[in-house]
Amino acid sequence: MTRITTIDSTENGSQTITVLGSTGSIGISTLDVIRRHRDKFSVFALTADRSVADLAAQCLAFQPRYAVMRDNTSADALRVYLSTRGSTTEVLSGEQALIDVSRDSAVDTVMAAIVGAAGLLPTLAAVKAGKKVLLANKEALVMAGALFMDAVRHCGATLLPIDSEHNAIFQCFPANYQSGNSVPEVRKLLLTGSGGPFRTWSVEAMSSATPEQACNHPKWSMGRKISVDSATLMNKGLEFIEARWLFDVEPSAIQILIHPQSIIHSMVEYVDGSVLAQLGHPDMRTPIAHALAWPRRMDAGVSPLDLMIHNQLTFEAPDHSRFPALGLAIAAASAGSGAATVLNAANELAVESFLAGHIGFDEISSLLADTMALADYREPGSIADVLALDSETRARVTQLLGAKVV
Ligand code: NAD
Ligand code: MG
Repeated sequence: MTRITTIDSTENGSQTITVLGSTGSIGISTLDVIRRHRDKFSVFALTADRSVADLAAQCLAFQPRYAVMRDNTSADALRVYLSTRGSTTEVLSGEQALIDVSRDSAVDTVMAAIVGAAGLLPTLAAVKAGKKVLLANKEALVMAGALFMDAVRHCGATLLPIDSEHNAIFQCFPANYQSGNSVPEVRKLLLTGSGGPFRTWSVEAMSSATPEQACNHPKWSMGRKISVDSATLMNKGLEFIEARWLFDVEPSAIQILIHPQSIIHSMVEYVDGSVLAQLGHPDMRTPIAHALAWPRRMDAGVSPLDLMIHNQLTFEAPDHSRFPALGLAIAAASAGSGAATVLNAANELAVESFLAGHIGFDEISSLLADTMALADYREPGSIADVLALDSETRARVTQLLGAKVV
C-alpha cells in the first residue's frame, strides 16, 4: 500500500519572519505555533503598539534582531529593560521602522497582524518587496482593495489569508491556487460566521449592550476591535469585501451563512454541484500553521475535531434588520474601492468610540449609515488617495460624533 504522509517541514527549510502586531491575539497565536517549530523559523522582528512588558517578554523568548514600538517613549522603556537583561535585540520606533522590518532583504515571511488602518503601509511594504505575506490585517485589504491586489500581482508577493473563512476557502481551492486570481469553475463562495455574541438578542437589548458584552464572543477569543465588529456583523461585512478582492469574485457570487457552531470555516461551491468545506476547532492556530507551512502542513497544537461531539451543524440567514452594518458593507463591496475605504475608516472610529463609552452599541451602525449617505465614493488612484480618503472620513465622523467624543 502506498502511504501518503504529511511532511512536518516547510518547503524551503527555515523561514525568517517578521511578526507585525506580535503582542495581539493573532501575534500570540503565531508565536505559539513558531515555538513548536523552532528549527523552521528564525524571528527577524517583533512589533507592538505600546505594550512594553508583553513585547519585552517575547523578545527575551524569541531573540529577534529588531523590536519595533509605536513611539519613542515605549521604545526607550523597552531598550532599557532589554539591555539590562543582556538582550542583543535592537529597539526601533515609528511607522518607518515597521516598513523597514517588513521589507528587509533578510525577511522571507511577514505576518501582518496589526489591527486597523495602521497596518496598511507596513503590510504593503512587505507585498511590494515580494514577500510571503500572511494577511490577518483585513482592514489593510478592505481600505486599499484593487491597489493592494495590483501590488500583490505585480511584485511577486505570495499572499496567504489568515482570516479563518478566507483561509478555509483558500484550502478548498485547487492546490496551485495563488491569491488574486479567480477560479473559473467556482460558482459561489459560502462565507460562514458564528453570528457573534448578539445573534439572538433583540434590537432593544442590543441598544444598551456594553463593551464587555460585545467583546464576549461565544466561539473565538480575539482583540477588542474585531470582537465588536463580530457583534455588529461588520466583521462579516469586512470579510465579504476581503473575499471579493482576495479571490477576484463578483459580490453576487458570495453568500453569507450564519453557522453558530463555528466548525465549518467556509465553503466553495463548484459548477458541477460539489461543495467543499474546511472544518476545524475555532482556533486561529490552524489557519496560521497552514499559512506558515504552506504548501505543506505542520502541527498547530490544535486538538483533533471529534464530530461525534460536534454533531449538530446548523445554518441560518443573517438578519439584516437587526444587523444593518452588514448590508452597508455588502453595498460598499459593489460601490467600489472608495466606498470600502470610507466604510472602514468610519467603522474604526465608531468602534473606538463605543469601546471608550462615548456612543451606544446601536449608534455604531447608525453612524456608519450617516457617513455612507454623505460619502464621496471617488475611486482612489493611489495609496496616497486612499490615505487622504481615510483621513477625510475620520474628520467627518469626528464631526458627526460631535460632543460625544471627549
Ligand atoms: P489585537 O488588538 O489583539 O492586536 C493588535 C496588535 O497590533 C497588537 O500587537 C498591537 O500592539 C498592535 N497595534 C495596534 N495598533 C497599532 C498601531 N497603531 N501601530 C502599530 N501596532 C499597533 O488584534 P487581533 O485580534 O490580533 O487582530 C489583528 C488583526 O487580525 C485585525 O486586523 C483582525 O481583524 C485580524 N483577525 C483577527 C482574528 C482573531 O482571531 N483575533 C481573526 C481573523 C482576523
Ligand atoms: Mg474571520
